[in-house]
Amino acid sequence: MNDQVNKVNLLGLSLPKLIAFFESFGEKKFRAVQVAKWIHQRGASSFEEMTDISKKLRQKLEEIAEVRDPEILFQHFSKDGTRKWVVKVAGNNSVETVLIPDGDRATLCVSSQVGCSLDCSFCSTGKQGFNRNLSPEEIIGQLRVAIGSFGPFDSNGPRRVTNVVMMGMGEPLMNFEPVVDAMSLMMDDNAYGLSKRRVTLSTAGVVPMIDKLGDVTDVTLAVSLHAPNDALRDKIVPINRKYPIEDLMSACQRYLDKCDDKRGITFEYTLLKDVNDQPEHAHELIKLLKRIDCKLNLIPFNPYPNSGYERPGDETIRAFQNLVHRSGIVTTVRTTRGEDIDAACGQLVGQVTDRTRRSERYIKLLDQSLTVRDNLGL
Ligand code: SAH
Repeated sequence: MNDQVNKVNLLGLSLPKLIAFFESFGEKKFRAVQVAKWIHQRGASSFEEMTDISKKLRQKLEEIAEVRDPEILFQHFSKDGTRKWVVKVAGNNSVETVLIPDGDRATLCVSSQVGCSLDCSFCSTGKQGFNRNLSPEEIIGQLRVAIGSFGPFDSNGPRRVTNVVMMGMGEPLMNFEPVVDAMSLMMDDNAYGLSKRRVTLSTAGVVPMIDKLGDVTDVTLAVSLHAPNDALRDKIVPINRKYPIEDLMSACQRYLDKCDDKRGITFEYTLLKDVNDQPEHAHELIKLLKRIDCKLNLIPFNPYPNSGYERPGDETIRAFQNLVHRSGIVTTVRTTRGEDIDAACGQLVGQVTDRTRRSERYIKLLDQSLTVRDNLGL
């Protein structure tokens, strides 16, 4: 087993990095492209099956590299078509991935970290505290697992997942390079070939990283706003104390300018009963959002035990949506999917046992989470 330890897992290498890897032992760029297509478009897991590559090169690759998917610990297929996987990642951790089919589309919600350091007050992932960042192969591995769940890859393999949203566990901008590498594979024509419209990164608002992101990619940006003013946002999205709404809005505008993106930012707003769901919040939100090209995605709170929050009633949700929509801002309500398998937003906690274990772990990790917040200066 020891000889495996130092093998490079090719799954997570972006095309430029894969090419550099091949060149490091004197192989040409086009060989790297061939191997990328085998891995990402044809679903190969071994070098043996890469029949258009010389035996000698395959042997060499066998010695120094591997193509290793994350291990699936559990999978649940919901009655509404949603599929959820708990995959094992290094260090005996697990993360969750959810596939949400909708007509012609199938959107995969991908995790970027084990736990999360930002500790938004209503999010169950945050309550776990932060454990560690995922590697690029652990991120792209989630996509391979989802595609592979429909059977062996064929020429349409990568098309089985039409959209990817970095909206699973974790704050993607706190794990910058691995996330950017994984997204570049998602969009590379020699890998998954998704257009930038179909790859969305969601952030709670790590302002300097939004600027950095705009320098290297032009994926669709979603921002978790959840409150229309600093007083309220400070309480429910603690990173706001470091990067307040004005700074966040300016960073969003700079991102749009760099990407030349006419579709604008998608703002996410989780509706919490009697906290941020009143008409005055809607009016304040309209004023804020009018200044920028955007749409609004309302997420009715998905409850979980001891969250301390409730989902507003349907009438309140509709009233909030109508108010904002009438002001000219496209406003959608995210329908909850996969609730029967705990796959809805904020329910992703890398659960490996039952709920009791989960709450024990929650208590253990709370301390850790507070430490991380201190480190962030929050
Ligand atoms: N850290 C990133 C990625 C998470 S995306 C971010 O904050 O954007 C998941 C989205 O679901 C975020 O908008 C998050 O705030 C929201 N969310 C978390 N818990 C939720 C819950 N219990 N109910 C509804 N939405 C929730």
